[in-house]
Amino acid sequence: MSRTVLNKKEALSILRQMPSSILFKSTDSNKVYASEYFEKDFGIIEPSGITSSSLTFYDPYSKKEMLGRADPFLLVESGKQLAKQCRLQTQSRTMNCYIEGGMVNTSSGDWTVLYIKTNVTDLLNDSHKESAVSQHIAFNQLLTNFSSKLINSSVHELDGIIDQALAAFGAFCDVDRCYLFEFSDDGQKMSNTHEWAAAGVTPYIDELQNIPTDTMPFFISHISNGIFKVNDVSSIPDFAIEERQMFEEQRICSILCVRIMVDGTMYGFLGCDIIGSPYAWKAYDIEYLRRIGEMLGNTLQNLHNRKALHKMQLELLEANKQLERLANIDGLTGIPNRRLFDATLKADIIRCNEQKIPISLLLIDVDHFKQYNDCYGHVAGDAVLKSVAETLSNSCLGSDDLIARFGGEEFAVILPGTASDSLATIAARILRNVTYLSIAHEKSQCSKTLTVSIGMVCLDWSETEPESMRGETKLSATSFLEKADAALYRAKNAGRNCAKFLAFEVLNEAFSKVKKP
Ligand code: GH3
Ligand code: MG
Ligand code: MG
Repeated sequence: MSRTVLNKKEALSILRQMPSSILFKSTDSNKVYASEYFEKDFGIIEPSGITSSSLTFYDPYSKKEMLGRADPFLLVESGKQLAKQCRLQTQSRTMNCYIEGGMVNTSSGDWTVLYIKTNVTDLLNDSHKESAVSQHIAFNQLLTNFSSKLINSSVHELDGIIDQALAAFGAFCDVDRCYLFEFSDDGQKMSNTHEWAAAGVTPYIDELQNIPTDTMPFFISHISNGIFKVNDVSSIPDFAIEERQMFEEQRICSILCVRIMVDGTMYGFLGCDIIGSPYAWKAYDIEYLRRIGEMLGNTLQNLHNRKALHKMQLELLEANKQLERLANIDGLTGIPNRRLFDATLKADIIRCNEQKIPISLLLIDVDHFKQYNDCYGHVAGDAVLKSVAETLSNSCLGSDDLIARFGGEEFAVILPGTASDSLATIAARILRNVTYLSIAHEKSQCSKTLTVSIGMVCLDWSETEPESMRGETKLSATSFLEKADAALYRAKNAGRNCAKFLAFEVLNEAFSKVKKP
């Protein structure tokens, strides 16, 4: 039997025509050839066919290039078993593949052959139905996990979860790029906020910022209705030629985008691309992308609601503060009211006691005010009370001082840190300033103009408080006030338009009365 001797060219021609998708190279050369089937699979139309420099193998999990000892051809040549998944990039498109290797010996030399099975998901669909189903179940499980992560996510965790969801979808549906775009508040611009790119695919996120939406009317008209699905970019009609060219420049052949709604408006869209050759989007690609889009929409809606709630909370807090302020201010005179006075006096007594600094209190009462009202009317009386309040505020300028309307035509001044020896000066200033108002009061029995009387007291801890009473200041505010009132009574009795001070001995007496069981 005669044996046909093949020359190298004939062997190459036979391998080229093999009815399967293969890559092969002679063991004594580095030049790689592809079968016609392979070229068809990868959509390679250049007459020069494949070149070794246009082929790159990637590990789909680590995204690293399979170089050196991991190079599939070298693995086969060194006699190692090769059967693995990889992502194969050609000048035309990049696809997830399953590769197996083997040697073919011919009379003209040995050839290293790689069998390339593309479209791994379909492969599973056809030959391993059960594992295809279990893959979908696993992917659904993954989506469920993402959705529960998203439900509990805070703003700063969201980015990471979106990235993971894009990567999971990208890998499962074997796309080249997967991304999230957001519209600006006015809808005039859109920006790529998250991107996942398969191994060997150039990321574009940095270039896709603040794109004016009016440059993409064709895309916007579709996505506004929920979905933009293009199996073959070259089929985009001529009236949208600019958008078609933009996709073609990025070598995008198929696009699938779903819109994301938040609060009834279009927030953005989620999308993915196939680069290199057209691809007919499958029902499950659309379904999965839509589900992720809905998940993100719900999460963003949730965050949006939380933000709105937070804003409302701040507004309520501000309104409460405003109410609090109003609750503490006297409506007529605009100075602190009795409520704030009581609280401040208690707190200041405790504070001054702790710091062992004196605290003084003035009670100021308008003289013969009943007659004033009777003579000039209540409206004029109100105006007088406002003027007196303003004069008191200008007369007591200590940063800690509190001037309050105590009630009716009575005012009170708390002077933390002020000792008894300063009180005569302060009182004289107040009496003088009220006189300077020159408010005519013809019915007054003590002066031709409006006057006030002042009762003064001072608590000086270092002098007054016995060791045994330290810290027991609860009842002090009341007795302190009683003493101020008594001092005011003295001023009234002394003919009005004057100030009277009540000495410590009396105060001490009051304290011992209060503190005794
Ligand atoms: P005295 O010098 O002893 O303090 O005499 P008086 O008339 O000022 O004291 P009295 O307590 O008899 O009267 C206080 C008056 O203050 C009675 C009341 O009509 C008036 N008054 C209290 N609150 C207001 C207010 O908000 N507006 C006006 N216009 N008058 C008020
Ligand atoms: Mg009074
Ligand atoms: Mg009075």
